[in-house]
Amino acid sequence: MAEVGFDGVWKEYDSDSVAVKDLTIHVETGEFVVLVGPSGCGKTTSLRMLAGLEEITEGTISIDGVVVNNLPPKARGIGMVFQSYALYPHMNVERNLSFGLRMQKGAERLEKKEIDSRVSDAAELLGLTEYLDRLPKNLSGGQRQRVALGRALVRQPEVLLMDEPLSNLDAKLRNQMRIELRRLHEELGTTTIYVTHDQVEAMTLADRIVIMNEGRMQQFSTPLEAYHHPSNTFVASFLGTPPMNLVEGSMSDGVFIATDANGGEEPFTMKMPSHHSSYEGRCTLGFRPENTALKIGDEDGKFKIAGFESLGSETIVHLDNGDTRISAVWHRPGPEANRQIMDRTSNVGVQINESDIRLFDSEGNAVNGA
Ligand code: ATP
Repeated sequence: MAEVGFDGVWKEYDSDSVAVKDLTIHVETGEFVVLVGPSGCGKTTSLRMLAGLEEITEGTISIDGVVVNNLPPKARGIGMVFQSYALYPHMNVERNLSFGLRMQKGAERLEKKEIDSRVSDAAELLGLTEYLDRLPKNLSGGQRQRVALGRALVRQPEVLLMDEPLSNLDAKLRNQMRIELRRLHEELGTTTIYVTHDQVEAMTLADRIVIMNEGRMQQFSTPLEAYHHPSNTFVASFLGTPPMNLVEGSMSDGVFIATDANGGEEPFTMKMPSHHSSYEGRCTLGFRPENTALKIGDEDGKFKIAGFESLGSETIVHLDNGDTRISAVWHRPGPEANRQIMDRTSNVGVQINESDIRLFDSEGNAVNGA
């Protein structure tokens, strides 16, 4: 197990393609860190630089305090699991698991006894013991993915890297494997860096998440800190389904007024809590749908119901006021509630607790730690 450091790391493929911009993160020994962000944000490139599969343009990457910029992949003590886990089709599970160890030569050569013991430990850990004689074609997708993970684990890596390892599995299996991966991590405690574009995977697996966009880190924190206190509007809208409501407008004398591009409606306004009241000028107001209480039939309410989605345990209500669109989670399903929600003519007010209100400046960055 080891700690991992990225310090001012850049990756420039050419002047038009800068994949990673000034990445600085320190991953602690035994930590599970997830790199998450939309397609093309630089997650895979960051992982590949750490693995030694991609050269670094600038900056340093270290493992346990040793700069590894110029070390070959083999010398970095890393195990990798990819999305496409290409097992050897003609080898059974036991041979697939042991292949890498059997290929180690010279000083790294292992005795057969040691190889057998590592393979049987990994098989036990991953629930593969009864499948050791099977060929990959006779395994389920989840079992194959576990073999791929086992191949990395038998090398007893200092750091385990995973790049979208669950994306070939169907939704149900993905949920199961997520729980298994977390359990495995708690058992082994190997420092793990995991790449995904799936925010649910990131939220549920990580001790800390690195949220990236267009090559730049947006926030590095625990998942819940990022969810409740996003550093900017990108993070606020990336995490959460439905995402945080973000209303553009401006503040003056402690009151937020939504920009009403439509012109016709009376704009939505909100008196801001004291820790935000001194802000003046253009800004974005943020509040989560689940923290948005609706006051249906409120004479002063500025919103009208635009539609709703009934999910069984809750209903997502979409509201608008001119160009200002927000959503709220309604926790009282049932015929009476739905009748009220369906009434699209009545005025609807919203109420948000002071502690749930977030404010972002004109650049989209959190004000006062939001
Ligand atoms: P995805 O989720 O789609 O895999 P990602 O976040 O992992 O995306 P990267 O694969 O790291 O993103 O790519 C980051 C950026 O670098 C992208 O704009 C991509 O087009 C660019 N890029 C990646 N590899 C190369 C390359 N070999 N040459 C030029 N540009 C590249």
